[in-house]
Order: sequence, then structure tokens, then C-alpha cells
Amino acid sequence: MIITLEPGANAEQAVARIEQILGDESGVELRKYTFEGAATSVVELHLIGNTGELRESAFAVLRGVHKVVRVSKKYRLLGRPTGTTESVGFEYNGVHFDDTRVTVMAGQCAVDTREHTAAMFAALSEHGLKTSRMGVYKPRTSPYDFQGLGKACLPWLLEQAAEADVRVIAVEVGDERHVEEIHSAINEADCGVGVMLQIGTRNAQNFELLKHVGRQQTLPVLFKRGMGLTIEESLNACEYIASEGNSKIIFCMRGVKSSLGAPHRNFVDFGQVPVVRRLTRLPVCIDPSHSVGNLDLAPDGLPDLIHAVGQGLIAGASMVLIEFHPDPVRACCDGHQSLEPRHLPFLLEYVACVRRAYEEVIALPTP
Ligand code: PEP
Ligand code: MN
Repeated sequence: MIITLEPGANAEQAVARIEQILGDESGVELRKYTFEGAATSVVELHLIGNTGELRESAFAVLRGVHKVVRVSKKYRLLGRPTGTTESVGFEYNGVHFDDTRVTVMAGQCAVDTREHTAAMFAALSEHGLKTSRMGVYKPRTSPYDFQGLGKACLPWLLEQAAEADVRVIAVEVGDERHVEEIHSAINEADCGVGVMLQIGTRNAQNFELLKHVGRQQTLPVLFKRGMGLTIEESLNACEYIASEGNSKIIFCMRGVKSSLGAPHRNFVDFGQVPVVRRLTRLPVCIDPSHSVGNLDLAPDGLPDLIHAVGQGLIAGASMVLIEFHPDPVRACCDGHQSLEPRHLPFLLEYVACVRRAYEEVIALPTP
């Protein structure tokens, strides 16, 4: 059962009254969740366990209660309540991640040299980008491939980002140790740069890792759809994160594994952006780099990868995670699909242009 409070209601008082009604032996657990919407924040009190005997009306009459619903839906925390259009979104380290704007997280697949990352951050800074991506722990298909510089690079990576006024970097984590190393590095650097923990496609059902990033609530999570998982399985994985208390989550589409996607690296699944937005309140990100996986040009002169960005944005995605490298030939990982800093102005203009088209389209009267 979910009890939604009125905006501004006294949550502590409501919790106390509900606990009184439940009594000591109810076997029903009460959990409080706060969702930051674009305009208001909403407090929900979830009653978990055997709620069959409880009457909604007993809670509906309490001061500060807006509505009480029995949940049958699968995505208890992240699911979109029927009839609502607002997405959850959140603010982290001065950056807003929600569906009222498009955020571009551009950067290297993997951190390699200080010179490369400095050049990358300088390019972002030149164009006023506050968000980036930088792989530190790289999960590779072969154990003999470059595995990332690991925690050793975190102090200077954060310092460099601070110098460029980049506020948030997406960094993939593979286990709890990585999360702890990132927490310590942020605390030690104390330079105002934050990290968004990226759950890679290979860990989309690593439930212990999902629970761990959900238990810590300081860093938000960018969850990548499992490469061979249905939308339902991937959304349930996000619920694992949220159910531990962290609902600062972004859902990222990155293509699914299928030979039918060839010659792209994966089958581009951005047609399902509206599905995720309908089923949940999560902001949706697209990763064209790992979806398309090459820089081949279409006859109109645009790489398929850029076309994929447009396909995601026109479908309502509000974030783009995309690989760049200042010298792709020298990249330790995924140079073949990395754009260069000289492409950044075009990308940003293209993103703004498609977003404008999306906003115009949704403002049209529908039949
Ligand atoms: C990445 O974004 O660096 C990455 C490895 O992506 P994915 O987990 O989608 O393969
Ligand atoms: Mn990559």
C-alpha cells in the first residue's frame, strides 16, 4: 500500500499516526521515500508486508494524506502512477538530471593519460559542459586487454575535472570496493566534483552490487540496460537499487546484443525510450556509442551514431552518454567509436536542434 502525502505535509506526524494504527505486532513495515519532481517533492510512505487486512480509508482520513493506493504494479517505487506525466529526476552537485532538458555526458571510454583527460576536460569546459564520462575500472571481454587505471587515477581525474568546472563524472563500478574507493577519493579530493556510479550492462543483474549502490545514498546511479535483458528485467534491477533507499537513478539504453543489429555493435533499442518513460518516472539516457559502435557515415554525411542520438532524443530521452577521445588512435579502449573534441560543437547543436523538434512535436494537438 502506498500513502502519498500532500506537498509540504508534516511527514513525521503522519508516520507517527500510521505507526499507531499499525500497532506493534502488525508485521507491516513502513518505509519513507522522497521523490524530487521538477516542480515539487513528493513523500510516499510504503507499507510493506501483509497489508491485506488494512483498510485504505483508515489512512486516507489522516492529516496531510493526499491519497492511498494498493499497489499491484511491478515497479512499486519507480513505476509511473496512472495518469501522471511528471518524471522524478534529481539534482546532484548543482546539476539537474530530469526530463525538462537534455544533459550530455561526454568523455573517454577509459581514462588513459593525464594529457588526454586534460585535453578532453578542456574541450568540455570550452563548451560549458558540466557533465562527463570517464571509465576508471574497465570490464573487458579479454583479461589481457586494458583494464582501466583503477583508483590510482581518481585523485588527479577529480582535480582535472574541478579545474575545468566539470561537476559530475559517470564512472562505472564493478564491485563494492570500487564504490568505496570512489567515496574516499571524492572526500579526499574535496574539490567539488561528484561521481555518478555507472552500472554497466554486464552487471545489470548483479543484485548484490545493485543493493550496495542503493544503500549508499550520496551518489546517483546511471543504470545500463542489460544487453540480453528485457525491459521488465532491467526495470526490476532498478527497483533493487531504489528499494534500498537510493532513487536517484537514470535508466540508460545502450542497445541489445543481437546479430540482427549488424553492422552496428548492438541492436539500437531507442524505440523503447517511450516504453521506459511510460512504465517509470525515471529520466532516460541513451548511449549511442555502445549501441552503434562505429563512426560509419550515412550518405547524408552524418555518422549512424549521430543519427542514433537523434532517434533517442526525438523519442523523449533526456540524457546522452557519449564517447569522445582527443586522440582516438591512441585510446586504450573503444577509440574506433569515439568522437573527437572538434565534433563537440556540432553534436551540441544537433542535440539542441532535435530537442527543439521534440518539444514542438509534443506541443502539437494530438488527434
Ligand atoms: C561503458 O559505458 O563504458 C560501457 C562499458 O558500456 P556498457 O556497460 O553499456 O557496455
Ligand atoms: Mn566504451
